[in-house]
Amino acid sequence: MRGFGGDDLAGAAAAIVQWLRDADHVVIGAGSGLSAAAGLDFGDRADFAARFPALVKRGLKAAYEMIGHTGLAQATSWGFWAVHVDQMLFADGRSPVYENLRRVVADKDHFVLTSNVDAMFARNGFDPDGIWSIQGDYGLMQCLRPCSQDVWPSEPVVRRALTAIDPATQEVDDPACIPRCIHCGGEVFLNVRGGHWFIDRPYHEQRDRWREWISERADDRVLLIDIGSGFNTSLATAGRPAV
Ligand SMILES: [Zn+2]
Repeated sequence: MRGFGGDDLAGAAAAIVQWLRDADHVVIGAGSGLSAAAGLDFGDRADFAARFPALVKRGLKAAYEMIGHTGLAQATSWGFWAVHVDQMLFADGRSPVYENLRRVVADKDHFVLTSNVDAMFARNGFDPDGIWSIQGDYGLMQCLRPCSQDVWPSEPVVRRALTAIDPATQEVDDPACIPRCIHCGGEVFLNVRGGHWFIDRPYHEQRDRWREWISERADDRVLLIDIGSGFNTSLATAGRPAV
């Protein structure tokens, strides 16, 4: 396995071009660094400060700190998550970063394994049948209990919450607009791997397609490109259950 430092971009590009030429198939592993390069950066403090001044007053500095954050009232929490999901998922998702990556592998048989929950691969033209979103998808919502294995589209729920955000407090000020479980009325969250409550059933089909894809190519030359993964969501760990 080879990696490149930030100073040797020309060397990296030349090597990758050669590896692509030599490969029969390509696996793209992608983490949050790829979407950060596309402008969807959980660690962007300036963007967070501009969008969520009320949360900054509470001592929060970046969207990343909201992941797994407990102790906030539902009205406060959804005041953040509705705006965040709107920014990450419902805005125009076309990105030169992803589109260029798609062009690079366009004439190669390829499969994507990603820990990103923003659907950016599919939104930029990658075949949805060739993607395993291992950590879930902001496009779905689930019960936090959970009282069932059901998931449902997040968009109408999030859009409803957006209509009820008080611009001063940045909280959802109408309790009827706070997302609730469609079955038990309890607390809900986006269908992402945030705890033991995560319902991963919606991704089993993707996982099974990946297993089939890679097993059929086990004897071929498969190039693996891992982009923007941290150590806790690298392809080595995220892909381990499948290979
Ligand atoms: Zn429920």
